[in-house]
Amino acid sequence: MDRNVKYLIIGAGISGLTFANYAEGDYLIVEKEDEVGGYCRTIKKKDYVWDYAGHFFHFSTEEFKKKFLDSVSADDIKYKDKNTKIIYKDALVDYPFQTNIHQLEKQEFIDCLYDLFHRDEKEDYDSFLDMLYGKFGKAIVEKFLRPYNEKLYAVDLTTLDKDAMGRFFPYADIPAIIDNMKANKDSTSYNNSFLYPKDGAGSFIQILYDALDGSKVLLNHEVVKIDNEDKVAELDDGSRITYEYLINTSPLNHFLDYFDGKEFKSLQEALSYNKVLVFNLGFNKKSKYTEEHWMYIPDKKVNFYRIGFYDNILDADKLSMYIEIGYGKNDVITEEEVEEQLKLTLENLHKLGIIDDETKLEEYSTIIMDPAYVHINTETEKRIQKFKEREAGNQIYTIGRYGAWTYCSMEDCMIAAKKLAEKLK
Ligand SMILES: Cc1cc2nc3c(=O)[nH]c(=O)nc-3n(C[C@H](O)[C@H](O)[C@H](O)COP(=O)(O)OP(=O)(O)OC[C@H]3O[C@@H](n4cnc5c(N)ncnc54)[C@H](O)[C@@H]3O)c2cc1C
Repeated sequence: MDRNVKYLIIGAGISGLTFANYAEGDYLIVEKEDEVGGYCRTIKKKDYVWDYAGHFFHFSTEEFKKKFLDSVSADDIKYKDKNTKIIYKDALVDYPFQTNIHQLEKQEFIDCLYDLFHRDEKEDYDSFLDMLYGKFGKAIVEKFLRPYNEKLYAVDLTTLDKDAMGRFFPYADIPAIIDNMKANKDSTSYNNSFLYPKDGAGSFIQILYDALDGSKVLLNHEVVKIDNEDKVAELDDGSRITYEYLINTSPLNHFLDYFDGKEFKSLQEALSYNKVLVFNLGFNKKSKYTEEHWMYIPDKKVNFYRIGFYDNILDADKLSMYIEIGYGKNDVITEEEVEEQLKLTLENLHKLGIIDDETKLEEYSTIIMDPAYVHINTETEKRIQKFKEREAGNQIYTIGRYGAWTYCSMEDCMIAAKKLAEKLK
């Protein structure tokens, strides 16, 4: 059925739903899945509550925090002071590594301190890797920052922009590192505390969805083509939607596919990103780790780079985890690969002492986040910016973590979506 709307919104993730919450006038959200939420969906199996890998709320504004908290009972929210560790050799070191080198064995500590002191700091850096060496010195980089980020981003770190992680990177200068040795209070992280709804991140998304008119959210439909001159979008069932404004929140690498023209294809090919294979695992009993919220694993012999403990966040009595494994953009994650990685994951959890012989896997789910982390690169950034500016002239706006092609939190997505809705009023 053909329609005509003021705002056509592609995607019912946190960005699309927030835009619709603040839009003035007629809108239609087209969502290709059979439910809303995008990457902020929650999966429930048996006693386990899981997200698409950990999705915790680190609010920096009162507005969105209040929007959610006013709609739920206080008992339904867990507030936590972050407890995060690095599994380094056979020990646990507090995260971030660079401010906790004093927790390493003596010779390793001396190596890190010596190289930190003699680092080759520069005015400007060529890449993310260059920045790491320049700011932290060889030992900190080679013991943690390099192997960890190579596992996560699954790419050569010299191809990433020096600011690839923006404010999410825990920068620390020598005074901060030395101070932390005594005070042991990390002030470099953006998220020292967080909150999490007992029913998972998806329960907050439901609040955004419930505030909308359900008839304006078209599930199980995919936008497949855009005519940016005539302002018409075509859906997978052949229907056509004429719009005044098009708000895209689908990943830019897919969005560019909906247009005709070589320039779109060429930008699409230039986009680089990783994929993350996530396992949510529910076990029959607790692990020996009862306080930790998530852990970082730089060791390349271990298949995962980060793991999280939902049970320690939700105060549950059985181990409930997420496991993240990084892949390059061209890697194909087949069913056999998933099976192999699950086997390896259980073996490595055992080797690391997180599970033991009595621990049994009761339930699990598998998710492939594609894309997961976009690779920020100065040259491509400029081209994306140009594309956005040109299409804004056609009343097309591309927002959200993947639509805007950036590294940001759920709250950042909400802030950007609200700002755009208000601007277009
Ligand atoms: C491993 C990992 C962990 C994370 N942890 C956190 C965290 O702890 N805290 C935090 O704040 N953030 C976290 N994030 C970031 C968070 O997931 C994103 O910022 C947020 O979910 C992005 O929401 P969005 O609406 O912009 O995009 P999405 O959630 O991707 O929504 C886009 C929607 O568009 C739909 N769509 C796509 N193509 C089409 C089409 N052609 N037609 C119709 N619909 C379409 C999709 O199905 C989807 O529903 C994490 C991200 C990753 C990868």
